[in-house]
Amino acid sequence: MLDASNEREAFDRDHFFHPSTHMGLHARGEAPTRVITGGEGVRITDALGRTHVDAFAGLYCVNVGYGRTEVADAIARQAHELAYYHAYVGHGTDASIQLAKMIVDRAPDHMSRVYFGLSGSDANETNIKLIWFYNNVLGRPEKKKIISRWRGYHGSGVMTGSLTGLKLFHEAFDLPRAPILHTVSPYYFRREDRSMSEEEFSQHCADELESLILAEGPETVAAFIGEPVLGTGGIVPPPAGYWQKIQAVLDKYDVMLVADEVVTGFGRLGSMFGSDHYGMKPDLITIAKGLTSAYAPLSGSIVSERMWEGLVKGADDLGAFGHGWTYSAHPICAAAGVANLTLIDDLNLVENVRDVGPYFLNGLKQALEGKAHVGEVRGEGLLAAVEFVADKDDRAFFDPSLKVGARIAAALFERGVIGRAMPEGDILGFAPPFCLTREDADLIVEKTAEAVDAVMATLA
Ligand code: PLP
Repeated sequence: MLDASNEREAFDRDHFFHPSTHMGLHARGEAPTRVITGGEGVRITDALGRTHVDAFAGLYCVNVGYGRTEVADAIARQAHELAYYHAYVGHGTDASIQLAKMIVDRAPDHMSRVYFGLSGSDANETNIKLIWFYNNVLGRPEKKKIISRWRGYHGSGVMTGSLTGLKLFHEAFDLPRAPILHTVSPYYFRREDRSMSEEEFSQHCADELESLILAEGPETVAAFIGEPVLGTGGIVPPPAGYWQKIQAVLDKYDVMLVADEVVTGFGRLGSMFGSDHYGMKPDLITIAKGLTSAYAPLSGSIVSERMWEGLVKGADDLGAFGHGWTYSAHPICAAAGVANLTLIDDLNLVENVRDVGPYFLNGLKQALEGKAHVGEVRGEGLLAAVEFVADKDDRAFFDPSLKVGARIAAALFERGVIGRAMPEGDILGFAPPFCLTREDADLIVEKTAEAVDAVMATLA
């Protein structure tokens, strides 16, 4: 245990290579180290004794809130009983088997099996391999391209970083790699033709997808991947009719749908799954974060019955499925998952999302929409975003070098609330734990309005 904070900061700067961090600023000590020591409900505490409302639930993952002893106890019990055994060649544990059943019971009706991983990224890696394997089994080896969307986020691996549609994750890494293609983002606020209605814009997105499939050749396009609500790309709910129109194009060309529900799975939209929320019919669903509320790392690919039947046929023809992770279905993580999903049910947390989510969004709209530089306030369930613009009438965006979004997030932090500056554009994102109360929501709204005013005053 390091008790002198100077020493701890030096160790951190000199030895800890942090993810998604500006390496130089951090190593030189120009960006602060922040050591988190505890959490309770929607609040976290740091080593300096400061407490913040975590209105982003970590990385939109601590859905049941911090400090849940039910989940901690389940993890401890499993660690004492059996910390590890693998899941290869038909092995399982009570926890992993029970969790698979709980997931399928909650998933859309046509889903039937779960393949477990450790992160959202590795689950999407698995999805791509499942799709390729499946099309090989069906005797269409040329049908392998995957279409994703600009501003989609699907992970940081080589394939999943390619699926992701954000510059930060591509440019310095020589990504994207073939055979990943991108189509337009369903981002109504940023549409080029501002005369379009939402429905017209959704049709435009579907038409663009169809043109891409036709240009590439439908016999080469295997799947389309999308988050029900665009997440890291800006927290953007789909425009009206979007998923119906996209689904029609996919069905027409026999292109599979992967619903990446790493953020939306297990209640964040006020429905158990975003696929049900928007009437999507996925062949695969990616799950992670909310599966264990991040009490332990666990992810999964939920497979439709139709796809499962093809995979079984493949096994009969090709032998065992040559894809596995040492920690697939890790018993400690599975025990955390069982306890977490049980807690979500017992505390009616999805109902709370349906209640407090719209209340929170409405509060943000009332407090912010009238302000000069607030271009849009949007959200669904307990996901919300405020997008800032230089000029509202022209919808002109700020020069990125002004870092308006990051400065507002910093001003909000100073006022005791954590929101997230999303990576592309000046967008402040919120995804609080599901146990948020109306009082907490009021506090976040009040502090956000203050932070926005404080930063905008410096720009005037
Ligand atoms: N998919 C979505 C929609 C995500 O939001 C994320 C992470 O934020 C991922 C995949 C990747 O998950 P992980 O960071 O666990 O690899």
